[in-house]
Amino acid sequence: MTPRRASYEGISLYSPPAVPCRVDLSDNTNLFGMPPAAEQALRDFTPSLITRYPVSYAPELKKALSAYSGFEASWLTTGCGSDDLIDCALRAFLEPGERIAVPEPSFSMMSYFAKVNGLQYTPVPLRSDFEIDVDGLLATGARLIYVCSPNNPTGTVVSRAVLERLVDAAPGIVLLDEAYTEFASASHVDLARSRPNVIVTRTLSKAFGLAGMRVGYAIGRPELVAEIEKARGPYKHSGLAERMAIAALTEGVSWVKARAEDAKEIRKRLVAELKAQGLEPLPSEANFVLVPLPGAPQVAARMRERDVNVRAFQGLAGVGDALRIGCGPWPLMEAALQALREARR
Ligand code: PMP
Repeated sequence: MTPRRASYEGISLYSPPAVPCRVDLSDNTNLFGMPPAAEQALRDFTPSLITRYPVSYAPELKKALSAYSGFEASWLTTGCGSDDLIDCALRAFLEPGERIAVPEPSFSMMSYFAKVNGLQYTPVPLRSDFEIDVDGLLATGARLIYVCSPNNPTGTVVSRAVLERLVDAAPGIVLLDEAYTEFASASHVDLARSRPNVIVTRTLSKAFGLAGMRVGYAIGRPELVAEIEKARGPYKHSGLAERMAIAALTEGVSWVKARAEDAKEIRKRLVAELKAQGLEPLPSEANFVLVPLPGAPQVAARMRERDVNVRAFQGLAGVGDALRIGCGPWPLMEAALQALREARR
């Protein structure tokens, strides 16, 4: 018999379909590339930084994040992608058997993280206007409530008053996932300072173009961050990931902001073109748009035959079948729109 933790039985690995296509708009990464400063840091990386351990708890990276985010270093922790920080936060704040509540649809990894940490998982459907259901989330009695804004995969945002009501009534932690914040009209990160129970996670995988380097960060009161650091351990990202992240967060910031503005402009144009095809994309503040479309998985398969990869969803709660299309340089959008047109014929 395979030695195994009983609660791991039935857990399958997270495996979004990986399909090599000339135009890949499936994973919400930065389709413009990465900041030139990060590329320079890659070229400048020296062997001496490989043979030694990175400095524990990444103080230099925290310094760069501090300048970018406006939070002191003691309010920050970093991880191997924000995935890792969500996982660490669940371990840090909840004992096995306790419950998390997650709006649905939202980041699909949340149920996986709940399972591997032995937690109870309660999905709470978004309302018909795609706002979170505060009363429904509170009624679960969950010790940690996850909210993603802009939300993956809908692209919609939580409104300030609604979020404040949730945070002020929640019996435990509210973990606010701002992976796509650079593309949004507003951030709620200030709640991490004004409220004792808010942790915000963010990433360098999206606007910063460093998904392959695996760098994320979390913001919260020092006493909360200290708990996450216990679950995180001293070394997470490689020394190279740290150098590239620091470069992106310092000299790279103006490039990141300019490309995020480009993505927002392109999102507008893409939405208009999709509407011209008779579709009704959801209002998005992320670098992707979700397009409800019956038979989306079949449409996506036909788009792949035309060398364009978009993410297809089947029977999403409150949405139905849908395509999620990443925003990037306009020629990629044109290829996607053309493939979509042909795939729907
Ligand atoms: N949160 C959300 C909402 C995401 O969409 C993703 C990536 N798909 C992540 C977190 C994790 O990203 P990473 O681990 O690369 O920081």
